[in-house]
Amino acid sequence: MKHKCPICKAETDSAVHADFPFCSERCRERDLGNWASEKYVVSEPVFDEEDLAEGKGDAILLDLNNNLDNPNDTEH
Ligand SMILES: [Zn+2]
Repeated sequence: MKHKCPICKAETDSAVHADFPFCSERCRERDLGNWASEKYVVSEPVFDEEDLAEGKGDAILLDLNNNLDNPNDTEH
């Protein structure tokens, strides 16, 4: 089974590398170090308020269109 070292992107092979999927113990420890220092943790969610408002507007427009095209909406 072949893979790429998540740290240095070197090709690794589960049959060859004892530290698979890492190419070496050094890379494995570096990965652990990344986790320990929370390098992988996104500190802040990437929310753009304008994008959210825009998305909401699209949803409302879609709802209006659905109502207009809805043949069941003739009861009132
Ligand atoms: Zn590596």
